[in-house]
Amino acid sequence: MRACVIHGVEDLRLEERPSEPLGERGVRVRVRAGGICGSDLHYYYEGRVGNFVIKEPLIPGHEFSGEVAEVGPAVQRVKPGDRVAVNPGRSCGHCEFCRRGEINLCANVFFMGSASKFPHMQGGFREAVAVEESQCTTVPAKVPFTTIAFAEPLSVALHAIRLAGPLVGKRVLVSGAGPIGLLIVMAARHVGAQSVTSVDIVAATLRAAKQVGATNTINLREAPDALKDLAASHNGFDVVIEASGAPAALESAINVAKRGGTIVQVGTLPHGGVTAPLNLVMAKELTLKGAMRFGVEFDWAVELLTSGALDVGPLLTGEFPAERAAQAFALARDRNAGLKVMLTF
Ligand SMILES: [Zn+2]
Ligand SMILES: [Zn+2]
Repeated sequence: MRACVIHGVEDLRLEERPSEPLGERGVRVRVRAGGICGSDLHYYYEGRVGNFVIKEPLIPGHEFSGEVAEVGPAVQRVKPGDRVAVNPGRSCGHCEFCRRGEINLCANVFFMGSASKFPHMQGGFREAVAVEESQCTTVPAKVPFTTIAFAEPLSVALHAIRLAGPLVGKRVLVSGAGPIGLLIVMAARHVGAQSVTSVDIVAATLRAAKQVGATNTINLREAPDALKDLAASHNGFDVVIEASGAPAALESAINVAKRGGTIVQVGTLPHGGVTAPLNLVMAKELTLKGAMRFGVEFDWAVELLTSGALDVGPLLTGEFPAERAAQAFALARDRNAGLKVMLTF
């Protein structure tokens, strides 16, 4: 079984790995498509994501879909041949957080393709992977594997939106027009936001934002004051969802949020910490929330993708066989050319 393995900074190898044993409730998935995420790029180009540092070879990848190849004797919900979306997170089910339904905060979560624990949790960029039945959601055979592989990033977007509260009639600012920011734009329109303004510093990403439904786009590199001016015209934004992870974007979010407004931080900020005008959080009574991964939103995402309610087609900018993984990572990093780039196995 071939696997993409990161050994260190810009050292990615395609290696032969033994296939894993299958438990009673295990499902062997023949992986077909896997999306390259910002965190995969950080692992590959920097050897770390925020506070998570690569300390042993890591198979990246947590956004993937495939076909069921084999099931354990106790598996009931899926069978060989089924097309599945795979939830890369497996929560323990018995900690304080799981018991109250906040499975994304599980103290013992196993999240694939992550170096947050040692030994690292190996990911899905490989020909086949053993997961639990509970991680698999079947989808109709007509839905392309690449579409299904958007389930994980769309879940992240939906979780951030859910934490922002009802968006109907709200003026929403989405900062950062990478894949997560763009999925947030789409989903925010879908749930009834009055306006969705997308800001970034790369023109190509803002063209995509327009394409997926942003009501306004602002290129902060070309028009640094445009966001402040727009915010001033209507007392600021009810909701800001910060998906870029840039310290300046968090500062700006605090400045342009309306009094009593809500900011959701979903982008990963630099690990050294940031300075921000937090006094305004007090003075404007802002609510500042973090959004980490997702819970029940995974099933919502699969439904939105399989029903066609959200069309993620414009976000897919490349598909590469695993042999060309390095090229795929380079395109995914190039914000002028790539949005979501996928590996196929
Ligand atoms: Zn991701
Ligand atoms: Zn738990």
